Amino acid sequence: MTAPSFYEEGALVAVLTTQPLDRLLDYKAPEGGCFLGAFVDVPLGPRRVLGVVWGPGRGDFDINKIRPMNRVLDAAPMQEEMRQFLGRAADYTLTPMPAMLRLATRSPGLGDPPSMRKVYRLGHSEPERMTDARRRVLEVLRDYGGLSFTLGELAETAGVTSSVIKGLVKQGAVAEEDSPRDLPYPRLDPDLPGKELTEDQAAASEVLRGAIRSGDYGSTLLKGVTGSGKTEVYLEAVAECLRKGRQALVLLPEIALTAEFLRRVEARFGAMPAEWHSGVTMTERRRAWKMVGEGGAQLVVGARSALFLPYRDLGLIVIDEEHDTSYKQEDGVLYNARDMAVLRASICSAQVILASATPSLESWANAEIGKYARLELTSRFGEAELPEMSAIDMRNEDLPGSRWISPTLQREVEARIALGEQALLFLNRRGYAPVTICRACGHQIGCDHCDARMVEHRFLKRLVCHQCGETKPMPTVCPSCGAEDRLAPVGPGVERLQEEAAALFPQARIAVLSSDLFGSARALKAKVEEIASGGADIVIGTQLVAKGHNFPLLTLVGVIDADLGLQGSDLRAAERTFQLMRQVAGRAGRAEKPGAALLQTYQPEHPVIRAILAGDEEGFWRAEAAERKAAGVPPYGRMAGIVLSSPDVQQVFDIGGVLARNDAPLRRIGAQVYGPAPAPIARIRGRHRVRLLVKAAKTAPLQAALAQWVGQVKLPTNLRLAIDIDPQSFY
Ligand code: ADP
Ligand code: ZN
Repeated sequence: MTAPSFYEEGALVAVLTTQPLDRLLDYKAPEGGCFLGAFVDVPLGPRRVLGVVWGPGRGDFDINKIRPMNRVLDAAPMQEEMRQFLGRAADYTLTPMPAMLRLATRSPGLGDPPSMRKVYRLGHSEPERMTDARRRVLEVLRDYGGLSFTLGELAETAGVTSSVIKGLVKQGAVAEEDSPRDLPYPRLDPDLPGKELTEDQAAASEVLRGAIRSGDYGSTLLKGVTGSGKTEVYLEAVAECLRKGRQALVLLPEIALTAEFLRRVEARFGAMPAEWHSGVTMTERRRAWKMVGEGGAQLVVGARSALFLPYRDLGLIVIDEEHDTSYKQEDGVLYNARDMAVLRASICSAQVILASATPSLESWANAEIGKYARLELTSRFGEAELPEMSAIDMRNEDLPGSRWISPTLQREVEARIALGEQALLFLNRRGYAPVTICRACGHQIGCDHCDARMVEHRFLKRLVCHQCGETKPMPTVCPSCGAEDRLAPVGPGVERLQEEAAALFPQARIAVLSSDLFGSARALKAKVEEIASGGADIVIGTQLVAKGHNFPLLTLVGVIDADLGLQGSDLRAAERTFQLMRQVAGRAGRAEKPGAALLQTYQPEHPVIRAILAGDEEGFWRAEAAERKAAGVPPYGRMAGIVLSSPDVQQVFDIGGVLARNDAPLRRIGAQVYGPAPAPIARIRGRHRVRLLVKAAKTAPLQAALAQWVGQVKLPTNLRLAIDIDPQSFY
């Protein structure tokens, strides 16, 4: 029997709340009854909390003590599909349901009645005394035939002050009314003409449109070099989805990229879509959440959390730059939006498009075994060519210890500048120098709260901890031995590279693009536009520049340290380096001018560097896949990271040891546990961190075993345990 979808007043219903309780709570349905899935306000102790009607009451509680709900909130009830999605996402990520519900209700004043604002329209009487200004107001209202204006809009259109309008309101010549603020978004028109597609773009878009028309679930990997027109292609899939009357969601990895994308949406569909990310105002957030639920938003463009909006009928999810690590949420609920998108789509019969020039090995492997369909755009649009890539063997370069631009790279940069073109020097390190060392005693300046070295930021004139954000002024004496003026920077950051470039190329205009140098997305965007229009000769950038910006004059990319990402024990080090290098190289030669990429390396014979240079993508992926298969790690095996943290170092090791010894639930499914070991960053914000790693076969029921395993141990209150399924970063 299926649960009834409506509960009469007084009926016993179970409610899931956002409070950290491990069970549903029973309440009596309020006056007027309530629907299954309704958002409700319920009493909990002395408080009122948010909840969702989850099913019939369980009746295992004294009926006389069960309280009625306070009220049903003014929001469309959560649909069956969304409730299933939250449940399955919770099971997958081992997250308690209340935390999932919090993700799904991140809208201010979610249940408030539509907020009102004053609007103005034509009244019924004439003003006692007519003036020029008054006449203009009435004319505007007549001209616009019954449309209502806000005070500001009307004053501006009529060219009067707001007191003129207020005067007319007093006399009844202008009517002042309250009107709801959370209005539907303007309609997007999928039938406006799009760009004329090239042959392979058209073929790809036809396949995607067919998939949308089927109305079934499916995932497609849309692969194509940067600039090949992936965006144009998936916009046609969005158009088809809108024609079917279903909603579409486009996820982008970086807020800084949304503005440009929104302009493209507006050009294609004639209006702006809903936006959902940390940069939108509270009012807009509220409007987006509501309208998505009521169907008043056809398209949402947003960050990963947009996946948890209450879509009425979601038909398509696009994940642009699907390999990007920012899709993994690394605090709170640990989830990967890419994987959760596939889960949600499979529940609501939607299509997923994973777009990338450099897909993740996970998606590559899923396409290999046919779980995902695969479409490829092979050439760049127009004349643009992929750049020529070559290595600069740093062992043969004559370069003093504290310089990083080799003579070969220097000559190439000079040649490009002479032609009026731009060069990019890429170094994925923010700040001036990653390490500050005392030349007298060897002490390295670290953070007081973390096991991390502090990074000098010369623009800020401070040392910054990249783990916790703590800053302190640059000391003049060594904090360890007290020696004066012996502190020295070691290694390069982009700020130091800028100093070197300024000395080597005194005539050149140099711009630095690093996330910490811009106070706002707007400031960054302005800088990017300035560079794009030729406002710099040399761009020095971190991985910020690797993401989707278009610099038509840029023809040379110099990678300062191609070996950087290959160090360390991250199982994805090779994959990340490969992706990043190809992406950075893809910044060169986007317009008519051909580009070149030069990789400074001390190990040109390293297999990853060789694969990057050879441009042999399939070869690289096959080799990488074989290695991971042999090691039994993702995507060919399953992994979970468990991080225990506490202010008490003894305690984290003790509990870690208890877990490691009591591994029977894991052994039962053939899984192994490694550790406890100090996490790579053994202390963050004063909390000591210990890590265990669990490895299991691809088909093993890992989540259930993990839940049983950690459930055996009673955790002290100041100890935190975080389980990360499919960890992306190991810190
Ligand atoms: P990608 O998403 O693969 O990086 P884009 O869709 O952004 O590629 O395309 C790169 C540039 O080429 C954009 O400015 C885009 O408008 C343009 N472009 C791509 N395909 C076409 C086309 N068929 N007609 C006109 N312009 C196109
Ligand atoms: Zn710190």
